[in-house]
Amino acid sequence: MPATIIDGKALARQIREEIRRDTEIFLREHGRPPGLAVILVRDDPASKTYVRNKGRACDEVGFFSRQEHLPATTPQKDLIALVESFNRDASIDGILVQHPMPKHIDEATIFRTIESQKDVDGFHPLNVGNLCIGQECLISCTPLGVIEMLRRYEVPLLGKRAVIAGRSNIVGKPMIQLLLREHATVTVCHSRTVDLPGECRNADVLIVAIGKPEFVRADSIKPGATVIDVGTNFIERDGKNVQVGDVAFEEAKEIAAAISPSPGGVGPMTITMLLSNTLQAARWHVK
Ligand code: NAP
Repeated sequence: MPATIIDGKALARQIREEIRRDTEIFLREHGRPPGLAVILVRDDPASKTYVRNKGRACDEVGFFSRQEHLPATTPQKDLIALVESFNRDASIDGILVQHPMPKHIDEATIFRTIESQKDVDGFHPLNVGNLCIGQECLISCTPLGVIEMLRRYEVPLLGKRAVIAGRSNIVGKPMIQLLLREHATVTVCHSRTVDLPGECRNADVLIVAIGKPEFVRADSIKPGATVIDVGTNFIERDGKNVQVGDVAFEEAKEIAAAISPSPGGVGPMTITMLLSNTLQAARWHVK
């Protein structure tokens, strides 16, 4: 039987509507909307589109938003000064500096400069640490989106074997903590894992975030597993530039019980979790 498609786009629409309603209440109670500042330090069109989309998403749910486009040559100290000005700005609840940043900028320093309660990307060491020890914190948007997809599709996690392919700071590592929090038994794979397909075949829930187009094939999937494909890759197919995930979707959907596509899966959830984190931060700031 073909798999249930975990429709990230529809879920994202539903959650954004919930956020829009909560924003109306927030505005009534506190006299201002939640505010998000997005800083872009580069000139490429793809990043500009990301930032523009974040601005649009804010408008949709009724947030106040600021977008700052800085040239790629901006000195680190100027970027730090801008972040610090948003740290002090009471109309701003969330600050996001779009990455990757130019080479002369130390991303870790920038992430540490963002006030931890405005760090809606969840990259500040305080937020990363608090996630590990189970304290309230802001959590990286992509893994947060994945766990929300699993929760809303009622995928059982307690006592289940979860396998994560990829151990990046923004996806794989926070994903470990979120799955542990749900009492899954978690295995993490990476480029030195000896038998990736074998590890994946053990998974009741398989999360793939490796950045390799259609790398995980049907023979790496346990029949009846749930598969979440975080991968966002662009390849040439039939003369067109198309987006594909890290999982060979067409064949995987014949084996899995449920699977998220790419595009239309994790991507729309990530930006939605950014809105959710900003609302969460705003609630802390008015307390
Ligand atoms: P990343 O920082 O490049 O990390 C890739 C991870 O995959 C690393 O841990 C790497 O292992 C592992 N890996 C690479 N090749 C492997 C292989 N052959 N076998 C096993 N593991 C392998 O990537 P990322 O930022 O986590 O992103 C991963 C994918 O998700 C990309 O396609 C990205 O575009 C996508 N993504 C999507 C969203 C979204 O919102 N939809 C958000 C973030 C990322 P090592 O650690 O050993 O190098």
